Amino acid sequence: MTGIAVLGSTNMDLVAYVDRAPERGQTVTGREFRTVPGGKGANQAVAAARAGGDVMMIGAVGDDEYGVRLRENLEHSGVDTDLLHTAEGPSGTAHIVVDAKGSNAIVVIPGANGAVTALGPGEIAAIAGADLLLLQLELPLSAVIEGARAGHAQGVRILLTPSPVQQLPDELLDCVDLLIPNEHEAAELSGHFEPHAAAEVLLGQVPAVVITLGSKGCLYAARGSTAVHFPAPDVTAVDTTGAGDTFAGALAVAIGEGRPVPQAIAWASSAAALCVQKHGASTSMPYRSEIDAA
Ligand code: ADP
Repeated sequence: MTGIAVLGSTNMDLVAYVDRAPERGQTVTGREFRTVPGGKGANQAVAAARAGGDVMMIGAVGDDEYGVRLRENLEHSGVDTDLLHTAEGPSGTAHIVVDAKGSNAIVVIPGANGAVTALGPGEIAAIAGADLLLLQLELPLSAVIEGARAGHAQGVRILLTPSPVQQLPDELLDCVDLLIPNEHEAAELSGHFEPHAAAEVLLGQVPAVVITLGSKGCLYAARGSTAVHFPAPDVTAVDTTGAGDTFAGALAVAIGEGRPVPQAIAWASSAAALCVQKHGASTSMPYRSEIDAA
């Protein structure tokens, strides 16, 4: 089994479904409220575990009810949570308003995630012993950089999803093997909206990049070879939440198993296409047998 360490966030998503989002100063009555376990780190961990990886989650939940549920949700999908600490104070939360058109507005409060500013010897050892490390940008950058350096020094392959997007320091980029931005993040990081042009700029910073393009699939580019476009399977999407995290988690598993990158990308695209056909984020992520069948 591929050993995957995920250093990242856990959030409880507090989702209010409304017909029309409130304007400034306005109060509206909504239709429904749901609490859904999320956070990009936890979502990628669930996706990778369901895809068949041996996954260790590194991060923190709060000492509240949400923390208990966030941990249980990871364990339910087979993620090892021994290095998911319980910090004093509230868990991370994402306050989401979704309108009738499916558009959303989100406030994230980092809570316990914000306490992960540095790593201990246990976390460093777990990262050093993994085959791959999955990173995003929802933890303090100091911890992300420390994890990346610890992994890079031991030859652990490092996959970074640059979300929420921000300018990336060289000391982080120097450790990254594969950058996985969506098209908005790629545009923000490169200054180019056109994916080929964005990829060319990003290849000046990292050896390989996969730009995900929603229903249009993705573009894979590596230094020294021609960029390749992979179309997404033609499916009816009902909820694209978690698609990018499903893609990253499944891709890590396939790369770790030694599949050539184009094959790994095709497999991850199948996984993400299964995710968008169901409601929810972690609950809609497919298991390995479903990905193989697709
Ligand atoms: P994010 O969720 O991070 O914004 P994308 O929207 O680019 O990322 O989606 C990630 C991947 O999920 C895509 O590269 C594609 O493989 C898959 N995907 C997303 N939307 C669809 C869709 N409507 N149909 C099929 N696959 C999709």
